[in-house]
Amino acid sequence: MENCKTIKLLTAGPVTLRREVSEALAEPVIAHRGPKFESLLMGIEAKLKKAFDTKDGFVALMTGSGALAVESMVFSMLDPGERVLYVCHGEFGNRMLDSMNIRGAQVKTFSEKNGRSVKEETVAAELESGKYDTLAMAYTETSVGLAYRYAERLAARAKDRGMRVIVDAVAAMFGEHISLDRSNFDAIASCSQKCVAAPAGMSFVGLNSEAEARIHSTKQKPRYLNLGMYKDAMDRRRGVPNTPAVNTMYALDKALSVMLDAGMDDWIEQHRRRAGILYEKMPRIGYTPIVENEDCRSNSVTAFRIPDRLTPAQVMAAANEGGFDISPGLGELSASVIRIGTMGDVSESDMNAVVDALSQASGQ
Ligand SMILES: *Cc1c(COP(=O)(O)O)cnc(C)c1O
Repeated sequence: MENCKTIKLLTAGPVTLRREVSEALAEPVIAHRGPKFESLLMGIEAKLKKAFDTKDGFVALMTGSGALAVESMVFSMLDPGERVLYVCHGEFGNRMLDSMNIRGAQVKTFSEKNGRSVKEETVAAELESGKYDTLAMAYTETSVGLAYRYAERLAARAKDRGMRVIVDAVAAMFGEHISLDRSNFDAIASCSQKCVAAPAGMSFVGLNSEAEARIHSTKQKPRYLNLGMYKDAMDRRRGVPNTPAVNTMYALDKALSVMLDAGMDDWIEQHRRRAGILYEKMPRIGYTPIVENEDCRSNSVTAFRIPDRLTPAQVMAAANEGGFDISPGLGELSASVIRIGTMGDVSESDMNAVVDALSQASGQ
């Protein structure tokens, strides 16, 4: 390993870790019953609550990737037959739609693809119909680098109608300004290998008091995906219901400390500035952001159409030459789009450096 050239990750996740975060993985394993574990868990819970900006909410901490957070949110917040209005912008949105369909929800979907955003007025008008129990959205659709910044205003309208609001914020949380207590989102799913800059393996769902009541009142409860079980284990014995990845929790704990020490506003601003460098400089070397609506360009994952004469493989190889891993486009965009993440232990000069590396490939 030592003599390999270190490659920094500018992917859509996982992310490059600070040394102290990866070193935390090597802490001795502890059993998950007992005071040491209790203090680790309660420390993480307190930090997650700060990061989610909630006083009385609860953040369920689970071992698994972001998809676990999203699916457990869906299965714990929705009952079969429930009427959902859903806004979908691509591949990750499709996955949450699958989860909701499998749950048996009746979902009406407004979707756009290839970086176009669903019009706020369209969703707002449909909300007025009063036909729905829940509004569901992905805040940041990672496949196209689209941050749906109308989500909060739409959520406020949904709350006025007495609806619940559930949000996949896996790639958005801690990279966009999202507060559990002030956003009108009832449940927010995220995970460790995105903006908090921890290793993959832990996922979390923030729940406000309404969502807490909801996870206990659904008629049909799942087993492993039941967020109510996490709340009960926390309340009864300051524990978790299944064997957790303790070492990953140590690393998450450290990453949360680093983030909170920086300050949440600062942390988010760092993502915005790194993305801003890419949005400004990539067009100069022939790469256009696929999200045309500047309101909706993500801070954490950027996506660009590549110059016609290049293939994504060539572009990714050029980034690699410069010392970076970037992500290909997904699905029908895989032949024409590349994505560059701004998450993890990376700097503004890394952003400039990756642009330089790509300009070599495009000969500009
Ligand atoms: C990363 C991501 C997920 C979860 O992916 P995992 O591979 O399961 O961690 C879900 N939704 C969005 C929007 C994401 O960016």
